[in-house]
Amino acid sequence: MKIAIAGAGVSGSYLGFSLQKRGNDVTIFESSKKENHWAVCAWGASKNILKIFSHNAGLNFEDYILHEGEKLRMDLPNNRTEFLELNGLVTYDKLKWEQDILKNVNVIYDFKCNSSSFPFSNYDYVLDCTGLHRSLLPKSSQDFIIPAYEYLVENIKGLDEFYVIGYKGARGYFWYFPLDKGKGFVGAGDIDRKYYGIKEFFQNNPSARILKKIGRPIRLSPPKRMEPFFQNNVIGIGESIGCVFPMLGEGIIPSLLCCEIFLEVFDNNPSTFDYKLYKNLVLKKFNYYDDVYRILRLKMDNKLNTIKHFHLLMKMYRHMKKDERRFGFEINFEKMNKLVNSL
Ligand SMILES: Cc1cc2nc3c(=O)[nH]c(=O)nc-3n(C[C@H](O)[C@H](O)[C@H](O)COP(=O)(O)OP(=O)(O)OC[C@H]3O[C@@H](n4cnc5c(N)ncnc54)[C@H](O)[C@@H]3O)c2cc1C
Repeated sequence: MKIAIAGAGVSGSYLGFSLQKRGNDVTIFESSKKENHWAVCAWGASKNILKIFSHNAGLNFEDYILHEGEKLRMDLPNNRTEFLELNGLVTYDKLKWEQDILKNVNVIYDFKCNSSSFPFSNYDYVLDCTGLHRSLLPKSSQDFIIPAYEYLVENIKGLDEFYVIGYKGARGYFWYFPLDKGKGFVGAGDIDRKYYGIKEFFQNNPSARILKKIGRPIRLSPPKRMEPFFQNNVIGIGESIGCVFPMLGEGIIPSLLCCEIFLEVFDNNPSTFDYKLYKNLVLKKFNYYDDVYRILRLKMDNKLNTIKHFHLLMKMYRHMKKDERRFGFEINFEKMNKLVNSL
């Protein structure tokens, strides 16, 4: 099959490699210039799952790990602090991971795909892996994104663990994700654009030097709210169709899980892709993300009541507990409850 992929992020690179390995004729179109291409993200995810995807792509995930966390510190409103035990949460060199996967794949950089001029008919399938931009699919009326930006910093002293500040009403959060050699990502996503924690971070870490500033909103709406997933021969994969965990906007693993669903359906019958089956499998896989999203929006609107919404909270907890290894941190009902009440 002749396949075009728009976007060389985590979904585009993984699919580019996997589809080419199956003997397809693959071209990736990436909007940024090769020398400026950057993996916009804080590079944090669970190694328990990433080692499986890395293995599928012929990589050894251990080679990419920059920091393996032991505890995540969470500062909450009213001077409360909580610690989560980490069981696999790492930061890894996401840019190198994607570049290494793409070593033998044809990538055309500096090519911005858009639906009015892309040569769709030259390809059997066109995969929209443009993440937040969703450049080749119609916009969704239920899309929900929060403004965010982050810095890549170096020369950080005495701060070598994952650190998060949760904002009142779950309207956003600050993060510090350590990398290696005193580097890290410091950033925040905030509906109210106040980004509490960033200024304070630089005040408390006067030695910190900024290497890069990266601004890009974070999508929080799950697949159920991001239809359509396809149009003619265009198929959306990854964050473009809402494969993000709504509480945090964490999308590396959800996007890769979506790639696996795409490959499963594609392998069934490459010449006649079953669009409907793909849609149903994505909706099924990420069904509980919609419960998480509902909880988040209720909290943001100050309408979450732990008694009235107990069933919904319990459902979220049970699913997350089942998926604990995929998150890479402990899923504990008591702590989750405290968190929900504190925010
Ligand atoms: C500040 C920030 C921090 C984050 N931190 C984390 C984290 O620590 N852990 C986590 O799991 N998730 C995190 N996320 C979310 C995660 O990065 C994304 O959900 C994930 O990368 C989505 O993968 P993707 O391949 O679908 O899209 P992306 O990785 O976003 O890739 C999309 C690619 O498409 C390209 N592109 C865009 N438009 C076009 C176009 N028109 N034509 C051609 N190419 C185009 C882009 O340049 C990019 O290379 C973060 C997001 C942000 C914004």
